[in-house]
Order: sequence, then structure tokens, then C-alpha cells
Amino acid sequence: METVLSGIRPTGNLHLGNYYGAVRSFVKMQYEYNCFFFIADWHSLTTHPTPENIQNSARTILAEYLACGLDPEKATIYVQSDVPETIELYLYLNMNTYIGELGRVTTFKEKARQQPDNVNAGLFTYPTLMAADILQHRATKVPVGKDQEQNMEMARKCARRFNNIYKTELFPEPQNFYFAKEAVKVPGLDGSGKMGKSDGNCIYLCDEPKVIRKKVMKAVTDLGPQTPNSPKPEVIQNLFNFMKIVSAEDTYNYFDEKWNDCTLRYGDMKKQLAEDVVAVIQPIQERINEFATNQQLLDNIARMGAEKARESAAATLREVRKIIGFRVY
Ligand code: AMP
Repeated sequence: METVLSGIRPTGNLHLGNYYGAVRSFVKMQYEYNCFFFIADWHSLTTHPTPENIQNSARTILAEYLACGLDPEKATIYVQSDVPETIELYLYLNMNTYIGELGRVTTFKEKARQQPDNVNAGLFTYPTLMAADILQHRATKVPVGKDQEQNMEMARKCARRFNNIYKTELFPEPQNFYFAKEAVKVPGLDGSGKMGKSDGNCIYLCDEPKVIRKKVMKAVTDLGPQTPNSPKPEVIQNLFNFMKIVSAEDTYNYFDEKWNDCTLRYGDMKKQLAEDVVAVIQPIQERINEFATNQQLLDNIARMGAEKARESAAATLREVRKIIGFRVY
């Protein structure tokens, strides 16, 4: 059975971008594949070096994963820092990754712009840690949003290079997995291209309906369509892209026609959009509250997940040590 891996950094709650870009795919995949879903707490140090309560944040994401429908009996759900084997593989992969290629990664360049006083080596080697996360389980499929495509290319490069250097076929090349035909990018409703934790423009799965309605009604728009069938400006295209992701096809088509014949009222569109978002989030939100109060359950799931993940990673690391020539214990 093929192995799947994906993860999310616990630097904030799960938002709609995470849900549509990654978590929705996990839920579907857990019944068909050998699935590993992890909480990337080490990764979060690249942008948040002094987390306030990292274990609590990880438990919060875990509760949110479960509320979205991840089943710990079917999938292995674990916290990254519970699996020290990852670090050893990260080290080996770093030895065969060149600073030129890491410097060209767009997400690195973006983050370096956002935090010019903290362009740290962890940020620089983010792609090799991500590759270690994936390759330690020899995963072949990775559900990701569009923003991670370049990092996935690096993970494939790490696998290929290791296999070439050590003349082995240990690592399969992991492929991006998309829920639909192509990668999803959930836009921000503040006129920006992407919903993201560091962009402060998120609708969170834990947001109450009144908060969701308020956020959606504040979405940036313009004066409205001026001539029939005109192309949509970027902020309006974002709004429509958002609707395409969360609403029914008929709803999207209805408002698209209104745009084309210049009768669209943004207020009506946003009201509909808000109700469609509430319909997706409200049941998840209720379940988040149930899981979040059950610390015992969360701890047990994390412990069980760590055991299974370590077993899988240790088996790979034994092979890696043997291949490179280190002592195997
Ligand atoms: P992060 O929140 O950066 O840890 O990302 C975790 C997962 O969510 C990754 O698979 C991302 O590709 C996905 N993701 C984050 N933001 C978005 C977005 N706005 N649209 C689609 N996918 C996203």
C-alpha cells in the first residue's frame, strides 16, 4: 500500500487555506493509503523561535485535525518533535543539498523579506527538513496546496540525489497530491493572493459564525462591473475563486452571470459566501470544542502516533546508515 504524508505548522489555528489545501485530502486518503499526518512543531521555529506554549499549540492542531475527520485508528497522527529520527535524516540530506538551490526557493525568499532580522539557517534549510519528514516514511504521495510545489520539487531532488550518490533505490520520489485535478490556492479576502497565517487574513476553523460573517462581509471589493462581460480585476477574481472553492457550482454560476450582465451586488454575493463558509465550518467548529477539552484523549493519540511514526522512521534510518556506512544499532 502506498504511503502518504502531510503536515501543518502549529503557529496558529487551522484556517480555510489549510483545510482546502491539505486537510480535506487527508480525510479522504486515510481510507485508501498508509497515512502519516504530523504537526510540524520544529518547522514553526523557523518563524516563531520562542513559542509561548508549543505543546499546547500542537494539541490544539491535533483537536482540529480530529474535528475535520482524521481517524487515529486509520492514520498515524504525530507531533514532529516526538520523532528524533527525522533530525538524523535532515542532517544527511543537508550534506547533499547546495546553498545555491536552497537560496532560489520562493518561500525562503518571501520569508526572508518578511523577517529580515531573522533569516536563519533553519528557514534556509526548511526544504530539507520537509524532505526528511517525507522520505523517512518513504511516502509516495503528499497532499499540499499550490504554495508548496517548489518545496516538493526539492524533496524529489533530495530523494533522487541520495539514490544517485549512494547507488540505491531506497527513496521513491514523492508526488504532490491534489484533492481535485489541480492545486488549490485559497485566496485572502483582504485583496491579497493567499490566505496565510503570517498574512493575518485567515478565516479559522474555530471562528464562530458571527466572526466568519464579519470577516467575509469585510472582503475587499471595488465599484462593481462597469461593462458587460468585462474581465474581473484581481481582488474580484479572488472573491470568485474563493466562492468556487467553498460554494456550490450553481451559486458560483449565478453570481458569475450577474457579473457578466453588470447586475452584481457585492453585498449579496458576500452574504451568500458567508453562509456557505459557515455551513462548512460550523460542524467542524462544534467538534473542535469537544476534542479540545479531552486532553487525555489527545495525549493518548499523540503517544500512539509517535510510536508508530518512530517505528517507520527508524526502519528507514537503519537502511540509510547501512547505505552510507555508519554503524547500525
Ligand atoms: P502551513 O499553514 O504553512 O503549515 O501549511 C500547511 C498546509 O496547508 C500546506 O499543505 C499548504 O500547502 C496548505 N495551505 C496553507 N495555506 C493555503 C492556502 N491559502 N491555500 C491552499 N493551501 C494552503
